[in-house]
Amino acid sequence: MDTQTRIAVIGAGIVGCSCALWLQQKGFAVTLIDPEDPGSGTSSGNAGTIADYGCVPVNSPDLFKRLPALLTSKDSPLSLNFGYALSHPSWMIQFLRHCRTGKVNHTISQLGQLLAKTYEGLDPLLDMAEARDLMRQQGCMYVYRNQQEFIKANPSNLARRAQGNDYTELDRADIKQLEPELKLPFERGLLFPAASHTVNPQALCQRYFECFQRNQGEYIPQRAISIREDAGSVNIQLDGGGQLQVSRVVVAAGAFSKTIQGTATKSLPLDTERGYHIQFSNQQHLLTRPVCWNAAGFYATPMEQGMRFAGTVEIAGYGKKPNPGNIAFLTRKAHEMLELPDAPDQEWLGFRPTLPDSLPVIGYSGDSQNVLLAFGHQHIGLTLAGITGKLIAELVNDEPPSHDIVAFSPRRFL
Ligand SMILES: Cc1cc2nc3c(=O)[nH]c(=O)nc-3n(C[C@H](O)[C@H](O)[C@H](O)COP(=O)(O)OP(=O)(O)OC[C@H]3O[C@@H](n4cnc5c(N)ncnc54)[C@H](O)[C@@H]3O)c2cc1C
Repeated sequence: MDTQTRIAVIGAGIVGCSCALWLQQKGFAVTLIDPEDPGSGTSSGNAGTIADYGCVPVNSPDLFKRLPALLTSKDSPLSLNFGYALSHPSWMIQFLRHCRTGKVNHTISQLGQLLAKTYEGLDPLLDMAEARDLMRQQGCMYVYRNQQEFIKANPSNLARRAQGNDYTELDRADIKQLEPELKLPFERGLLFPAASHTVNPQALCQRYFECFQRNQGEYIPQRAISIREDAGSVNIQLDGGGQLQVSRVVVAAGAFSKTIQGTATKSLPLDTERGYHIQFSNQQHLLTRPVCWNAAGFYATPMEQGMRFAGTVEIAGYGKKPNPGNIAFLTRKAHEMLELPDAPDQEWLGFRPTLPDSLPVIGYSGDSQNVLLAFGHQHIGLTLAGITGKLIAELVNDEPPSHDIVAFSPRRFL
């Protein structure tokens, strides 16, 4: 393909911005379309971890057993809006089907292999965008209240190790030495010593966007309504009434990717796992590195502006207001973990884009060679954005992808 060919990327979250930079790196002229500020969606409020050890999905063989307790306990990181679940049963049923051992092992293996390429996709972008000052390499710690919590997590941890993510096991004294401000006695822990995190996910995305603009990238702050293929090119209808004619389009609109008509995504079971954060300004000195309280389903991450507690999973779709119960849960757990002011300064709700098998969609849409899909990165989109962008740029450049993407094909749901 002529490298002056124009490619449009719909969605300027971390995945869309990463695709845009990788496409520019291949020499393409790129137009980025998003009505919101780049990086201001789900990509702004996450826990900031480059979780290359994050191959274990929420789907798990023992979820059926644990589900009643998880859904009824007030002290649970998982919540479900029953009205929503009953009116949208298909995603839930498919998600539960993917809790079978064979399916979970497939997801772990495919995610593990893709995650092994995390820095192959991320490092060039950090250099291009001069964004290394937003990154820290202090490792990441998982903590467990007691031996019972630790033993429950053992199969997941062994699966991570089998995928090449080595860790050091910690006892109470090790944890205290590494993170002395933790209030609760955590009996056991893990340290992923090579893990890194960003201290400002939104600024990271904005840095990518500034680099994109320096490279003559075009930005259209409008919503893409629909696309239509037209004699080897793609016509994009914008909500401002205008149209854009490009050679190829990449749909990277996160959890909202299915709302764009004409992308052949209707049959894809994309839904959202809602997640929350609370943030306490100027308390970031309390930890050195992200600490994941595994059983409570969140990370405490020292960010540039404060201490952020990010996580929980709520199945309730897009339209419903934030659930005060999730914020209350995070606030209670944050106070159990660290000495903090009474109330957080910031509360946030984000929409993880999740397919029932917890694998992303990376590849051509349907029969088209001109429409590419890059979404569905669930809990690890910040981590996988770089390698996704690299693979998408290879496809657009008509190169064989440097990683086998068969498992991420949109066709797997046909
Ligand atoms: C609480 C929480 C903690 C998390 N922690 C981590 C973590 O530590 N590490 C990690 O790797 N991941 C983490 N994640 C997951 C990660 O944040 C997401 O997977 C990632 O942000 C998804 O990025 P995205 O670019 O696909 O979507 P988004 O960031 O949602 O971007 C999509 C963009 O598309 C735009 N858009 C939508 N519709 C249209 C349209 N029609 N036309 C044009 N533009 C459109 C939106 O405005 C938006 O800007 C976390 C998520 C949550 C909720």
